[in-house]
Amino acid sequence: MGKYDWVLSALSGLGFRDKLSLIKKFLSDRKKVEDIVKCSLCPNMCRFNCPIATVLGDESVSPAGKARIALAIQRGYLEADEENVLPLYYCLGCGACKAYCVFGFNVAELLIPLKEELYENGKAPRAVFKLAEKLKNYGSIYGERPVGMAREGKVLLLLGETLRRKYPELEEKYVRILEVLGFSVKTLEIEPYCGLLPYYNGMRNVAEKLYSELVDTLRNSKADFIVVSEPSCAYLLRHVIEKYGLKLKKKVLHISELIYDRLDELRFKEANVEVVLHEPCALIFKLERENILREILARIPNLKLKLPFRNGKNAFCIGGTEILEEMDREVYERLINERLQELKEEAELIITSSPSCMKKLEEAGGKVVDLVDFLLNYMEV
Ligand code: SF4
Ligand code: SF4
Repeated sequence: MGKYDWVLSALSGLGFRDKLSLIKKFLSDRKKVEDIVKCSLCPNMCRFNCPIATVLGDESVSPAGKARIALAIQRGYLEADEENVLPLYYCLGCGACKAYCVFGFNVAELLIPLKEELYENGKAPRAVFKLAEKLKNYGSIYGERPVGMAREGKVLLLLGETLRRKYPELEEKYVRILEVLGFSVKTLEIEPYCGLLPYYNGMRNVAEKLYSELVDTLRNSKADFIVVSEPSCAYLLRHVIEKYGLKLKKKVLHISELIYDRLDELRFKEANVEVVLHEPCALIFKLERENILREILARIPNLKLKLPFRNGKNAFCIGGTEILEEMDREVYERLINERLQELKEEAELIITSSPSCMKKLEEAGGKVVDLVDFLLNYMEV
């Protein structure tokens, strides 16, 4: 069922002229009123799909709840003290709200102007400033950026910080799969930061600096196009940098998108195994590639692919940007454990296509395999 179907059925009893005038009014009103006001007045139609509201069961962190708090602070009805601003940061930036919003709002993005103001005025939570300092000092929240191997080729592969730090053995596998697909691969010794943390948390000056460095490095790379391991990095390069006045005239693909585009060239052996798919929320809600992982895996003969209860448009985000992990470790762990239990009900082995998701699920005790690693195991080359 599409998100506008209820509107259409509500209008079904009306005559053509009434229908037309109501639709016109709906569309013009959509433009007049500020988005944050519309969201504040909404009866939380997307609440059921918000992972943080589901896990916490607290109205103040629900999508419309956060919009109401933001509006009250903006209008001066609520003081911008730490207690009042805190719920705004209980947002994973996943965009699961957008999947069911008639206005197409992603609440995380509606909150950015206020978060930028709070950050600018020193009123964001302490965790935001702590992470901002690390990003300013290292371009990373984990210390010096990891060093890897530099290669020369036509396609630039951005492996990402999590893969390089936590799964260095995957680097060769990502290079290998691109070579199997016929590309020569370029990699950088030190990659620039490619994360959404400063964007979703209003760290405007940090985002401007890091995203300019990112775009400069990619422009200077002279690569034909760019392939990334994290879907959130693809979203950043395709949609977020323009909000900072930056442009990258190169195609950017998540690794799964490239594999999907070349799927007819690949042949797989039988895999008599059972796996459950954890779809990274950035792939579903940000890149809007809902079916590609399923379609890729469907090409492997005899693979028993299971889906968790929450999948596709109802995919369950396990942390998004690192703010929740820093701010409230207990809630962060509850979120991941809830997802892990749901996945384990279907199969022991979890497959995903984001090194960050893999790390979180593994740290909670899950047995996880990366898509590229899994495909190479069953690929006929
Ligand atoms: S994001 Fe959309 S559906 Fe969700 S509360 Fe706001 S207006 Fe309502
Ligand atoms: S972006 Fe995600 S966590 Fe934030 S309000 Fe929307 S659904 Fe909830």
